[in-house]
Amino acid sequence: MPEKVGGVEKFASEELTYHFGKAFGKKPDIVGEDKLNTSRHPFHIYLGATKAAAAAGLPVGKLADEEHIVKTVGNGLYLIGGDADTTYDEVKNVWGVAMRGTLYAAYDFLENEMGVKWLWPGPTGEVVPKRKSFSIGEISRRGGEPMELRYYFNFLCNDKVKVGFTSDETAKAFFDEQQKLLLRQRHGLRRDFKSGHSFSHWWKKYGKSHPEYFNLLPNGKRMPHRSPEICTICVSEPSVWKQRVEEWRAWWREASSTRHPPHPWVNCCESDAAGLCTCERCRSWDGPDPRFEKSKYWNGSLAKDFDEKWLGKKLAVGLSAGGRWTITKEPPSDEFAASLSDRYVHFYNNVAAEAKRYNPEAKAIGYAYVNYIEPPLKTRVGPDTVIIFVPRSYFPYDGEESATFRKQWGGWAKMGATRMVYRPNYMLAGGNHPIDMARLILDDFAFAYTNGMFACQQDSLTGAWSAQAMHLYAMTRAMRDPLRGYEKARTDVLSGFGKAADAVNRYFNMVESHTAKWTFESYRAIGLKNITGCMNDVGGSFRNPNAVLGDFFDERFFTNCYALLDEAVRAAANDAEIVARVEYLRKGLRDTELGRNCRIAQKASDAAPDDKAKKATYDVAFKALVDYRASVEGDFVCNYAHHANWERSFVGWPHKVRSAGKKPETQMLGE
Ligand SMILES: [Zn+2]
Repeated sequence: MPEKVGGVEKFASEELTYHFGKAFGKKPDIVGEDKLNTSRHPFHIYLGATKAAAAAGLPVGKLADEEHIVKTVGNGLYLIGGDADTTYDEVKNVWGVAMRGTLYAAYDFLENEMGVKWLWPGPTGEVVPKRKSFSIGEISRRGGEPMELRYYFNFLCNDKVKVGFTSDETAKAFFDEQQKLLLRQRHGLRRDFKSGHSFSHWWKKYGKSHPEYFNLLPNGKRMPHRSPEICTICVSEPSVWKQRVEEWRAWWREASSTRHPPHPWVNCCESDAAGLCTCERCRSWDGPDPRFEKSKYWNGSLAKDFDEKWLGKKLAVGLSAGGRWTITKEPPSDEFAASLSDRYVHFYNNVAAEAKRYNPEAKAIGYAYVNYIEPPLKTRVGPDTVIIFVPRSYFPYDGEESATFRKQWGGWAKMGATRMVYRPNYMLAGGNHPIDMARLILDDFAFAYTNGMFACQQDSLTGAWSAQAMHLYAMTRAMRDPLRGYEKARTDVLSGFGKAADAVNRYFNMVESHTAKWTFESYRAIGLKNITGCMNDVGGSFRNPNAVLGDFFDERFFTNCYALLDEAVRAAANDAEIVARVEYLRKGLRDTELGRNCRIAQKASDAAPDDKAKKATYDVAFKALVDYRASVEGDFVCNYAHHANWERSFVGWPHKVRSAGKKPETQMLGE
């Protein structure tokens, strides 16, 4: 190592030491190059910005952020990268800006020369081939991260409400290992940008002084339609652009002087609702969408009887043009829908122009979302507008979703959106039970990458690593290699199962085909039979996925899956490492089975509130689930804190809270 070790080099040396220790049963000697006795061994690995690397002609200190080199020169193997003075603490935080080039060089070497793979959090997910020695030929690789931002929003949960895990220690161990896995899979970001619903506070701040900033509703008033936080903006109002740019300038004065400054982009992401402004000027910006004439909301026929009924959920849902991340009691309808994409693009372009008066690097960043998800019809996305695309998809991700996604994303690209952020919500699907829809998603991920995707933020990592082992590995691995697809990910995972690979492959097939048999309609149908929680969510929605467990799986699914895992254990023939991996898969499955039993018993008891026997059966089923989780929680199976919290809040399961923070029911994180 260099005489003076940087934060990334230190972390990289720890990772190399750890994996060499696992491979050889003995940790290597690590010394500063000033203390290196070159006569002791003929070969050395030089990690980081050593003088030796510079002397060997490597471009030390000249690599781009996150770039890395793995190269042999003479008797030395050199691992160097663009680290930009990233500190040790910054390296460890996967959600903060950090340049980990040297670490990525080490990971590249571990994967390609040492055959290491990381399948899931914790030691059983680490595939490190045992060896007595290793030999390498000439190597010369140079690489970078194709996407400058790639991560899941995280559910830490346990910081705010202590539930699910039996102690702070087991919770922390889980979150630490999960983060380590994400680092090893190169999740991270080299440049941040400000995004997320950014007008939520505006009504409170400007509602009285500047009503012209806000949406004109069909009742002739500029006011919130449901609650102030989701009041939308009159995007064609010039004083709105100026106000937003003023706020941005104040923000940038601070942000530009931080250690790793973000992009100087103006956050134009609207409130979390469909765009609603009916004013003449906004309407004149809209594209020639024939649905405006047919929609009662937009064609003026509502003006007289626009009342509470319209201020409710129906409006938001009806205008959302097919968004599937909420499953609704009313059948999905586009009765009121029309596309507002043209007016929003116009808005973003205008804000960008205003901001560029102050900073030539400025751009505007805004959503393609709800009723402005379809590509604009007449307004081209300007060169200084960045689009965050939020696909409508949730569960299942089928051929129809894929076709819709490609039509919409491809349409935006054709209308000039050359830089797009991909910001899906479908990772919230499936709770902590086995699903796998990564194959089709990753085909479309590759399509997105070849059509302008430069960043990906996924909402959210629910941490069901065992139950969704294949799905989550494929999704996680793709973030650093968007063109790689699903099949190679399957090969990666199976490589950890030796002689059991065939049976495990059939287990993954079974999960995948079970997922694929669902349609949006059939899933919604079981959801309607399982409405739960204080929000009266249709079962299977992202807050209450476990409400549908009784209908989503049947007993045969578990019998068949267990049979395959039993077969895998027999095939593993006492190879302890492989048996441990098969048993890891079984834990998520067993958790789901116990969760299903619990849900069935809960429904039976709810249907007969006076039946003590049914209540007792439910109590026993719930206890079995909780006891089981306690017995496996140290094995990095699942983010039980998150799942228990939502089961408690939205399915009504009586999880015991160890201690609660301020707002235990809202654990959404990200923006
Ligand atoms: Zn307007």
